[in-house]
Amino acid sequence: EPGGNVRVVVRVRGFLPREIERGAECLVNMDPVSQATKLLVPNDTDPANSRLKMRKVMEEKQFTFDNSFWSHDKADEHYAHQEDVYNSLGEEFLDHNFEGYHTCIFAYGQTGSGKSYTMMGNQEQPGLIPRTCQDLFQRIEAVDEPNITYNVRVSYFEVYNEHVRDLLVPRQDPPHYLKIRESPTEGPYIKDLTDAPVKSISEIMRYMKMGDLSRTTASTKMNDTSSRSHSVFTIMLKQIHHDMDTDETTERTARIRLVDLAGSERAKATEATGTRLREGSNINKSLTTLGRVIAALADPKSSRNGASKRNKDVVPYRDSILTWLLKDSLGGNSKTAMIACIAPADYDETLSTLRYADQAKRIRTRAKVNQDHVS
Ligand code: ADP
Ligand code: MG
Repeated sequence: EPGGNVRVVVRVRGFLPREIERGAECLVNMDPVSQATKLLVPNDTDPANSRLKMRKVMEEKQFTFDNSFWSHDKADEHYAHQEDVYNSLGEEFLDHNFEGYHTCIFAYGQTGSGKSYTMMGNQEQPGLIPRTCQDLFQRIEAVDEPNITYNVRVSYFEVYNEHVRDLLVPRQDPPHYLKIRESPTEGPYIKDLTDAPVKSISEIMRYMKMGDLSRTTASTKMNDTSSRSHSVFTIMLKQIHHDMDTDETTERTARIRLVDLAGSERAKATEATGTRLREGSNINKSLTTLGRVIAALADPKSSRNGASKRNKDVVPYRDSILTWLLKDSLGGNSKTAMIACIAPADYDETLSTLRYADQAKRIRTRAKVNQDHVS
C-alpha cells in the first residue's frame, strides 16, 4: 500500500465585530481557480497590524494547499459553507472509513480562527463532527444486506495540561484524569476511557453534545480552557461481513478521529515567557511537541540522528500526551487531513499557521485497510 500525503486545506473566516470595530482589513486572498492563498501586506487602517509593520518587514506571501475555503464574506459566490467543507473533505474521508481505513482530521490555528466552528459548529451551522455522525448513520441505515452488521462506538476526551479527561462522564471535583497505557498491538490507548456503543444518530448526537457541553462548561469556569485544551472525538466503525456461501466472517475496522487543537498562539506565547506557569509550560509541551513531530515527519533528513536511522526512531511522539496518543494519525496507519484555520486580519499568526500547514503537506502516512478474518 503506497503512502499518501497528509491532506492540507485552509479556511479563512469572516470578520468578528471586534475586528470591524478596530478597522481591520482582510489580508487574505484566495484564488478560486488556482486555489492559491495569499497573505497581503496590511495598509495602516488596522492599528494592530500597522504597529507590527513598524517593527518587522512584511511581504506578500503565497501558498498552495489541497483546498482553500473562502468563508470570509457570505455574499461572495465562492463562499465556503459548512456543507461545502463537509462535501469536499468529510464525505470522502467517511468513504475511506467504509473501505476500512483509519482517518483523522484535525483543525489547527490560533484561538478565534474558527477551529471549533469548523469541527463542531453550532445548532444552525453544524460542522464536520455532527455531519460525519449523521452521514455515518444514514449510510448504515441505507444498507439493506442481511450479511453485514455494523458496530459503532464513540469516545470523546480532552488533553488539558498534559492530563487526559473523559468528556463523556460528568465532571468531577477534583477532576478525574485517565492514564495512558500502551498495547503491543494497538499502540497507546487511554485506560478506562468511556467507549460507548451507539445505535442511532440521536444517540451519537447526545454523546457529542454531552462531551461538548462538558468542554465548554470547563472553559467558562476556568479561564477559557478550550483555547488551551485539545479535544479528540473518536468513532470506531466495525463492519462485520458474513459470507453465506463460504461461511466466512470478516471484520473491517475503521477509526474516525476528529481533533480540535488548542490555540496555536499558545506554543509561542509560552515559549516567550518561559516556564513560569506550570499550566502554560504543559500546554506548550503538547503543542510544541506536535510542531516538532510534524517537522520531523515532514523533513526526515533533518532529524538529528542522521539519515541512516529510520525516521520513526527520531520522531518525538512520546514527548507529549497528545502526540503519543495521535501517533498513528500523524505518521502511521491513517489517512490524515489538517484544516488550517486562519483569521482574516492577523498577519503574524496567519503567516505562522500557513507555514505550519505548508510543512504538513510533506508528511506521508501509510494507511492500510484494517480487515481481519474472524472465523
Ligand atoms: P477557535 O475554536 O479557533 O478558537 P471559533 O471556532 O470559536 O474559534 O471561532 C471564533 C468565532 O468566529 C466564533 O464566534 C465563530 O462562530 C466565528 N466563526 C469562525 N469561523 C466562522 C465561519 N466560517 N463563519 C462564520 N463564523 C465563524
Ligand atoms: Mg475553539
